[in-house]
Amino acid sequence: METLIKSGAQAIELGAELIKAGEVVAFPTETVYGLGGNALDPTCVSKIYAAKGRPADNPLIVHISKIEDIYPLVSEFSERNKRVVEKFMPGPITLLFPKSDIVPSSVTAGLKTVGIRMPKSEIAREFIEKAGVPIAAPSANASTRVSPTTALHVYEDMKGRIPLIIDGGDSEVGIESTVLDLTGDIPTILRPGAITPEMLAEVVGSVRTHKGEIISTAPAPGMKYKHYAPTVPMVVAKDMESLLAEYDSKSKNGVDVVALIRGQAAGMMGSRRFVNLGENDKEVCRNIYKTMRDIEKVCEYIICIDLGDNGLCKSVMNRVLKASGGKIV
Ligand code: AMP
Ligand code: MG
Repeated sequence: METLIKSGAQAIELGAELIKAGEVVAFPTETVYGLGGNALDPTCVSKIYAAKGRPADNPLIVHISKIEDIYPLVSEFSERNKRVVEKFMPGPITLLFPKSDIVPSSVTAGLKTVGIRMPKSEIAREFIEKAGVPIAAPSANASTRVSPTTALHVYEDMKGRIPLIIDGGDSEVGIESTVLDLTGDIPTILRPGAITPEMLAEVVGSVRTHKGEIISTAPAPGMKYKHYAPTVPMVVAKDMESLLAEYDSKSKNGVDVVALIRGQAAGMMGSRRFVNLGENDKEVCRNIYKTMRDIEKVCEYIICIDLGDNGLCKSVMNRVLKASGGKIV
């Protein structure tokens, strides 16, 4: 088989005709070049696997040219997923949804999810639009070879195996799309790409990275707000030396201060006003809120000693740091 390399409107026309005739065509996208065929035709899908020498257990991505083309391909579409689609499509991202029955299982390698991508490349979208069907495509390299970012790279691997390579110049992004699984409660990145976890978290709140780490804009309910705050300013002192220095400097300026300390430090306070939060962690925990409420009525400024981050005091410090707006002296 002769493999043509063509560019421009004529190449797109010819490509679309070949797809309608059940052939496989390589086309440019902003990530890497794809090896495309009619996603709804299992015979055509098997031609793609054969041209690449790709193992049958590695799924293909289904490419579309407009957002409404997603609906027939998926069996579920939530409000959250709609936001992700509207924010990142078209673009270098593949979104996984539960597949509908019209998607052949050979496209998804037997999986119940389908990966859908709407390329930003206008050549790619025009080609898909003209073909009139969703286009299943992996990267247009021979299996195990580096993904192609020019028409010539594709030619090196696919010469004699496919009838046409549509030449769209260099791929702008240069690496494969981010793959994001949208089927669970927390969207999960299966393959990192140009759309980063941080960009995704902005839209969905929390996202799991391909390493299993969770990236959040609001890590837990309530974290965005300043909670547990007394009515007067409060700061945390990293040690007793800082606590005494802060106390004395505020006092000198006429500010009415109370310090919150732990048992052993009482002897260092001299004539300064303080509350002993307790002799052990349990007592400190039991007393912290109560003490904050009591002393906010009788002072203008609270300094709390850093209670450390062991066991129970780690949780107490979480609240103390919120109360102080994270201010440490
Ligand atoms: P390629 O375009 O050559 O990088 O191949 C497509 C890649 O998309 C696969 O190797 C998978 O990493 C990913 N992919 C596509 N569909 C799915 C799916 N349903 N589940 C998981 N990963 C998928
Ligand atoms: Mg690939």
